[in-house]
Amino acid sequence: MINDRPTELRVDLNAILNNYNKLTALNNKKTGIAIVKADSYGLGARAIANHLYKNGVRHFATATLEEALELKDVIFDSMVLVLGVTNPQNVKYAVENNVSLTCPSKVWLEKCLEEMETIKGKLKIHVKIETGMGRIGTSDKEELVKIDKLLSSEKIDFEGIFSHYSNADGSDNNYDDYQTKNFDERLKLFTHKPKYIHIGNSASTVKYSDRQDQYNMTRLGISLYGCYPSENIEKLDKIKLEPVVSLVSKITHVKKFLKGEKLGYGVSYEAKQDEYIATVPIGYADGILRRAQGFKIKVGTEDCEIVGRVCMDQLMVRCSENIKVGDDVLIFGENNGQKISVDDFATFQDTISYEIFCCINKRVPRVYYKK
Ligand SMILES: *Cc1c(COP(=O)(O)O)cnc(C)c1O
Repeated sequence: MINDRPTELRVDLNAILNNYNKLTALNNKKTGIAIVKADSYGLGARAIANHLYKNGVRHFATATLEEALELKDVIFDSMVLVLGVTNPQNVKYAVENNVSLTCPSKVWLEKCLEEMETIKGKLKIHVKIETGMGRIGTSDKEELVKIDKLLSSEKIDFEGIFSHYSNADGSDNNYDDYQTKNFDERLKLFTHKPKYIHIGNSASTVKYSDRQDQYNMTRLGISLYGCYPSENIEKLDKIKLEPVVSLVSKITHVKKFLKGEKLGYGVSYEAKQDEYIATVPIGYADGILRRAQGFKIKVGTEDCEIVGRVCMDQLMVRCSENIKVGDDVLIFGENNGQKISVDDFATFQDTISYEIFCCINKRVPRVYYKK
């Protein structure tokens, strides 16, 4: 297939690997789960998981069973944990494909055990303890004791137990401490001991890097992809993450605009003086939302404001007379020595890097390289 449009999302696979190694080294060498859910935050789960796998990583997590089954090249020789709730009717796919499932409740586990009566092999599970996120998992102590009893079944491989911080990217520790306390109290109820205990995400992996706690695993998402979960975490200055992702394009059209000429849907911009307008082949169908209007992207070495409404497939920027068709455009990341932080791009739109990455539409080719 030809690749006519010059818009692409570049992903540095070695930077992801380096970030993984730096983060696990920082975190008392806890086993790091590479979170590749939602197609690795939109960057491409198979390519990323395969590269990490080739370099020794054996622990992954996805949001859904479907996503886990996509990781065909790593699945049989790795732990691949589904973080969301899987329909008990589909446990056979998990067992057949060596996928580990999250146990959110006693009822869920009972239903799985019923299914397992006719299935050969063991179901690998990680019990989810609810400690303050309010999403999935059980906080009720009596229910947890009952779950522990069910774990005696020979059909179950009790691989892990975990919880999830909801505010680890915040500036203080209060809510994290509250969740940790809830977690510890509930861990004590288990007579069966799992191989892995984990509560950390990117933020807490950095924030609590010097804690010698009893947990032996941590879950690494956005930090693998070169972004700090928040400014609070970046400011701790404990780790220098390598940038991973760049969104680039090239100018497809340039036009001289006279003072007073207008452009864009809704006549959303008027030239205040004679100036030049260049067009970039990327729009909201690619994930550059209309609220990016006004943000300055790089064209060559110039900072050029997105003027007028972002269209579905194209957007316009104001530039100097020096800009030509074919000039390099950087929306975020790095290219030819130019840089725009994805966090700045996200903050401008009142969101976070996670959402920016996940919203880059599949129409934009992912181009992998190894620095
Ligand atoms: C997405 C997710 C993570 C990763 O979070 P980051 O902030 O990207 O590190 C960890 N654990 C669970 C349960 C998640 O859903």
